[in-house]
Amino acid sequence: MPVRFVFFDIDGTLLSTGGAGQKAMEQTLISHFGLQVPFDGVLTAGRTDRGITDELFQRFGIENSPENREVFRQTYLSNLMKVLPDFAGTLLPGVQELLHHLSADSGLLLSLLTGNYTDGAWAKLRHFRIDHFFRCGGFGDDTPDRNDVARLALTAAASYSMRVVTGRDAVIIGDTPADVQCARAVGATAVAVATGAYSVDELAECRPDFLLEDFQDTQFVSSLICC
Ligand SMILES: [Mg+2]
Repeated sequence: MPVRFVFFDIDGTLLSTGGAGQKAMEQTLISHFGLQVPFDGVLTAGRTDRGITDELFQRFGIENSPENREVFRQTYLSNLMKVLPDFAGTLLPGVQELLHHLSADSGLLLSLLTGNYTDGAWAKLRHFRIDHFFRCGGFGDDTPDRNDVARLALTAAASYSMRVVTGRDAVIIGDTPADVQCARAVGATAVAVATGAYSVDELAECRPDFLLEDFQDTQFVSSLICC
């Protein structure tokens, strides 16, 4: 019976796809929406895939209809599967060891809190063979607001564990200010890690409860999460 719920972001926190996600979106814009434009200037870190889609549609004058969003989602996911092996992605330092260590603690439930589409999230985790560590999660299919994803993640954990899960039971771990903010939105402990797009100094400005350069010190990181 878990007593503490640990929610991990994916990109920049657990792994880097080496640009595969962005390439898959770019290919989708080109192949299905006839655009020959660069993806430059679109912020993806800390965003949800729905939020990124909304911005792309607005920027390129694509009607933001449920049909277009579904075409975009399906095409992106198909492209992602194809390009993931072509990019030099990697698990971030200490991730494998940390997940192995935490998963041995029966008092913890390891979950996801990510802006990725659900299927994209699991595809990335499967590619790096760490999907088996996670039981459930909140995902970015339907909302541009990461705070909503945090609420979905708590609900998913409650459903999985069949108990009430509040922010006080939760640790949210991510690499962007948006991860810290969504932890605040649900009253969870915020752990920021500077392995993504933001430096230690930049993350310090949003005052996470704990701030790490990376996950290489397994014992120390575990002690923060389990306290
Ligand atoms: Mg991230």
